[in-house]
Amino acid sequence: MTLKIVKDAPSDKGPRLPIVSIDGPAGAGKSTAARLLAYRLGFLLIDTGALYRVLALKALEEDVSLADGAALARLAARLDIQFGKLEIRNEGEIPRLPVFCNSSDVTDSIRVPELGMAASNVSKLPEVREALLSLQRKYGDTGGIVMEGRDIGTVIFPDADVKFFLTASVESRARRRWDELTLSGADIQLEQVIGETRARDDQDSNRAISPLKQASDATLIDSTSRSLDDVVGEMASTVRTRCHK
Ligand code: C5P
Repeated sequence: MTLKIVKDAPSDKGPRLPIVSIDGPAGAGKSTAARLLAYRLGFLLIDTGALYRVLALKALEEDVSLADGAALARLAARLDIQFGKLEIRNEGEIPRLPVFCNSSDVTDSIRVPELGMAASNVSKLPEVREALLSLQRKYGDTGGIVMEGRDIGTVIFPDADVKFFLTASVESRARRRWDELTLSGADIQLEQVIGETRARDDQDSNRAISPLKQASDATLIDSTSRSLDDVVGEMASTVRTRCHK
């Protein structure tokens, strides 16, 4: 699998730019905060959940079992996943991160609710994590990245310059997700989304390999009763203070 960033990489002259990791459970606002932070800092954004989602999407399309680690690793090797530049079309919007697989735009198709759990299923397999590990580490070479996921501060970049663990209560995470789903026309009960959120947390936190957990040196941010602006503001000032930027 190859993964390229369309945006120019930061200059490789001079000291390496910082690596910022953001880990945390589904629905804590991680993805939105990561986009806003990367955009604000002018850093590249690597959304590692998108890698697992693309792999699950392609496995479903090609009838590869979501439980067959070896077949999934072979499939991963055939995929060319690229992230586009973070883009804001209208003032005040959350930046959009285009995702391509083998030249097709999969930005929207990887966000359907079923793919969250399918991605979680493939991500517990050691062969899959191994297939995606070196790919993710390549992005540390030049720095100047925000990387979001579940195991970035613990496994992918244990020496990341600034680490965040962003969380929120299960109810508030599920409610945010439910708001998004119903806004986009889905007919789903809040209780169902709460149940799915708990199931995914449980699976992500209890898997044998690279479980979701806070790195001991990560800054914990609980977004339950905080605005996105407030959260991103804290992250940006932490990065600037730590990295003298
Ligand atoms: O972040 P997102 O919800 O897109 O991730 C989808 C799934 O991919 C997660 O539930 C998790 O199981 C898996 N994942 C992971 N490690 C990462 C990123 C995502 O296991 N670094």
